[in-house]
Amino acid sequence: VAGVPGLQKGSPGSKKGFKMSRDDIANTLSFFFKYSPVLEIRIPKAKLNGKYETTIAGYFNNLDKAVQSVIKYDTKVPGIYVTLNPVNPALLSRCSNRLDENSKLTTSDKDILKRTFLLVDIDPIRPAGISSTDAEHNAAIAKAYHIREIMAKHGWADPVVCDSGNGASLIYHIDLPNNEESTQTVKKCLEAFDLVFGDKEVGIDLTVFNASRIVKLYGTVAKKGDSTAERPHRESKILEVPAEINPISVDQIGELIAVIPVEEEHKPDKGYSNGFDIQAWMKQYDITVASTKPWNSGTMYVLDKCPFDASHRYPDASIIQTQSGALVFHCFHNSCAKHDWRALRDKLEPNREKRGSEPREKQKASGSKGNGDSQASALIHYVESSDVELFHDDVLKLYARIKINGVNKILSLKSQTFGSWLSGRYYRETGTAPGSDAINSALSVIKAIAEHDGKQYNLSVRCCWHDGAIWYDLADWTAVKITAQGWGIMKDVPILFMTLSHMKSSSPTQNAPIAEVKKILEFIPIKDEGEKLLFLVALVSYFIPDIAHVCLVFYGEKGAAKSTVNALIKRLVDPSALSLLSPAPR
Ligand SMILES: [Zn+2]
Repeated sequence: VAGVPGLQKGSPGSKKGFKMSRDDIANTLSFFFKYSPVLEIRIPKAKLNGKYETTIAGYFNNLDKAVQSVIKYDTKVPGIYVTLNPVNPALLSRCSNRLDENSKLTTSDKDILKRTFLLVDIDPIRPAGISSTDAEHNAAIAKAYHIREIMAKHGWADPVVCDSGNGASLIYHIDLPNNEESTQTVKKCLEAFDLVFGDKEVGIDLTVFNASRIVKLYGTVAKKGDSTAERPHRESKILEVPAEINPISVDQIGELIAVIPVEEEHKPDKGYSNGFDIQAWMKQYDITVASTKPWNSGTMYVLDKCPFDASHRYPDASIIQTQSGALVFHCFHNSCAKHDWRALRDKLEPNREKRGSEPREKQKASGSKGNGDSQASALIHYVESSDVELFHDDVLKLYARIKINGVNKILSLKSQTFGSWLSGRYYRETGTAPGSDAINSALSVIKAIAEHDGKQYNLSVRCCWHDGAIWYDLADWTAVKITAQGWGIMKDVPILFMTLSHMKSSSPTQNAPIAEVKKILEFIPIKDEGEKLLFLVALVSYFIPDIAHVCLVFYGEKGAAKSTVNALIKRLVDPSALSLLSPAPR
């Protein structure tokens, strides 16, 4: 890693070696203050005086006070972080210019005004919860400079380069609104970075896409696990701030995202080659693979050099074979933007079509399908032509939204319910039962559509925010929508919830006056007025998504109805076929 500026050796053992730097901390904070007048500083998982873990957090608009507050925790906590994007300044009044050692409310995605920065977090691949070795740490920093260099060739303005203590980070300036579209865009950017630059040693963290992301407060010490000679704690710091910080344009971001292969390549004429032996093929045409890695349940072969231009060296060009067998070629250079898998084959096998070298593919494409195939196609056709939406969630679980009698049902594509719905549907249309082979092959295509063409919806359990309202899942495919104006039971529920099989439905009474919530106290043996209020507030707060919820602990004699009260709360908030969990036996 010679020639890479800013490399530091970790300093094991001695506490002196990793003292926080007041100047570095002040520099980092003043940098972020330029973009956000109010910052949240957060210390998750702090263990003060060896006690339970707590979150320390506070909001600051005063640089000196922020630095002083942070310095107090020097070397005592696992890591100190700061918000990346501009925070709603109103949050300052939550905890103003001080750190609360028992913080309950931290910044959420909706508290972010806009997206000012794209964080590319480069992490050595290693077991969780330990610091990196010097070699791993150096590899990550070298990778950061490599990414900066390649991106600069693509016209990207220089990012801030940071040493996160264990890895490296690049902070690119962007200017996007804070909305769902931007979240997807940022997510895809990270995927693209990982696709192009990730290797066996370092990966790009794909999880840091959320608007309220926090980053290491550079200048503080990263303390993951114990500090050892091999895996020491290190001070994080900003290595380089460019003289001029310019935003990456939407077009440039789009160009980056375009490297992610789309599954259009499924079509036979675009390179879909079931059973194609790509490794043998590459060998035949002298394509050297520099590294092989798994990619989205397929395999990615990163090439030693680009077949179209030998000056495009590793890791710029690669061939991917997806799980379905589809083949994708891409090279991360503008001059290669047009070159897909098809183009690569045309270049290397110019006489391919004339030779008729693909009898299997041709036969497949031209039909002559058996009865099973036509049944399967009919099943897929029903799903595609009817009012069914196929989609996936953030962990690529696959679902279908089906409309039955005016209500939207969300079924997992893995569930028996979906399979039986599909056969029932086929029977009603044709009067015959589909074979199980046909159902299975139809299902595999339906799953592929849900995974690759379907939208992504993040499903909540029981309650969530949607469209400025709180929605509460009644577990019978209807939901309650609560706004400041009132509430009502909605039949046409958007795709919001995952209803688990053990969840029982509840049936709220419409038109009950709101003050009646107090009536529940008649059934709750709490005497103290203050505690009654606390109980009511807790109960109501359980219906508010995305906030920290209290865990009620009841004190009382044996037989004072403590469990009964807990059971009652559960029946109200989240009725379920499962009964209360008992603590494990001692
Ligand atoms: Zn190329």
